[in-house]
Amino acid sequence: MKKNRAVKEWEAELVHRQHVGDGLEFSAESFLRTVGDTPTDDSFELWLKEKVSQGELVTLEAWRCPVEGCGRVIDKNEIDANVCPKCGADFQEYGEDPISQTRYRAKGESSRDIYWMIVIHGMNTRGAWQEELSWRLANKFRYSAPVLIYKYGWVTTDVLLKRCHQSLVDKLGIRIREAIRFAKEHNNDHCPDVIVHSFGSQLFALLLESEKFSDLKFGRVITVGSIIPPDFVWSKHINSGKIEAVLNHVGRKDVPVRSAQFFIPGTGPSGHKGFTDSACINVPEQSYGHSGAFEPSQLKKNLGTGGLWEQFLQNPLNHFKPSTAFHLEEWKPFCVLVRCAGRFIGHLIFAVLAPFSIVRRLFDP
Ligand SMILES: [Zn+2]
Repeated sequence: MKKNRAVKEWEAELVHRQHVGDGLEFSAESFLRTVGDTPTDDSFELWLKEKVSQGELVTLEAWRCPVEGCGRVIDKNEIDANVCPKCGADFQEYGEDPISQTRYRAKGESSRDIYWMIVIHGMNTRGAWQEELSWRLANKFRYSAPVLIYKYGWVTTDVLLKRCHQSLVDKLGIRIREAIRFAKEHNNDHCPDVIVHSFGSQLFALLLESEKFSDLKFGRVITVGSIIPPDFVWSKHINSGKIEAVLNHVGRKDVPVRSAQFFIPGTGPSGHKGFTDSACINVPEQSYGHSGAFEPSQLKKNLGTGGLWEQFLQNPLNHFKPSTAFHLEEWKPFCVLVRCAGRFIGHLIFAVLAPFSIVRRLFDP
């Protein structure tokens, strides 16, 4: 009975390591130290052997530094040098050879680092969450990942016109290309991860579709309050290597995204409904409104240890399976007549408000 419980603990520890992509390589001793259990019989060795025969673990040839208090793992390349890279002991002088040790490597991908990030926000949001978000991101990840918050100034009635979207996409693409070049000049060859919100999500989707910017490549993408049409084909961009993966954080109480298709051409309520493409991971949050995910308490939760965003950004994707994730079967845009009526009202508003919009921009570019 007790033995079974121990095996369950070992299994759980191994699954956890594969899930977070950390601690995949280990020695028998270090593994047992983590679970805080030292079996008096050979049950652990037998369990390891079984895992090796199942292909869950592979054995690696390794050595340990013989100096007391050091014990650093010496790999194959280092053993010829005859010097411990940690304590500097010369093994010949010390009079003892490195101690041979069997190590194990669990099947699975390692966790990934966040090197830098681009945030594309919604219209005219100068909210406190931007600072909160960039501060949290920059402090959380290794190497203090820099964050570029893309600002496109004040956009008001422009969103109602399709041709205005294209010029905003062009500006966005040029800015991102510059940022990627700048990162490369500073020895950062990694693709940026991306967080997009509201109208910024639509601009990002149009950017992915644009031939002009087919050279831009991204890491993992998080959409919040997305107004991209729910039938957007993400898998095409994942398969071509333009993006690595996408997480759509759905707000069940998000009202603006539901009305977007009636006023903003080419948009849809994916921030409320989800995406139909099974390559996209839709995760709902019942309490979220349009910017719910950016509330300070929610940023803390999502980016905190074990939080949804943290897991999505850092863990191996083959183990990233949020319990509430869902698949949207089908989506059709609302009846074209209703959308046209909405668009017509939109153009009327545009005609009436455009002069004010121009004046406003003169004073607040
Ligand atoms: Zn040493």
